[in-house]
Amino acid sequence: MSNVETRGLCLCKNVKILAPSIRRKVWACHCDMCQRWGGGPLLSVDCGDDVRFEGGEYVAVYDSSVSADRGFCSCCGSHLFYRTKDDNCYFIPAGILDDSEGFELDIQVFTDTKPGYYCFANETREMTSTEFFEGI
Ligand SMILES: [Zn+2]
Ligand SMILES: [Zn+2]
Repeated sequence: MSNVETRGLCLCKNVKILAPSIRRKVWACHCDMCQRWGGGPLLSVDCGDDVRFEGGEYVAVYDSSVSADRGFCSCCGSHLFYRTKDDNCYFIPAGILDDSEGFELDIQVFTDTKPGYYCFANETREMTSTEFFEGI
């Protein structure tokens, strides 16, 4: 949507992310794996397959499931991406991107595994794990 190339930075600034094809819709994932990975829901944006890294030697990848892997900075531990294996699509945590102009919380997925101790007030689309696996 934006012509300005969106950039992201990890906490220690060794990894810089360039994501020119970002969609400014934020996903919230409440699944067990995201909860365990980040200690809470994963808020991420779809950046497509056109994502480049500077400081790539610091990018560590954890093979988290049959369908996706997850990247993090090997120096500071910042989470860098969730990446699908079939189409190499990067979902980048919204909070590590510099430019959040126009970001909108659009959809919550795995709502059936969301813990009871929090609830977003935003009006969003919602999908249970069953609905998610059946396809959007
Ligand atoms: Zn770092
Ligand atoms: Zn998840």
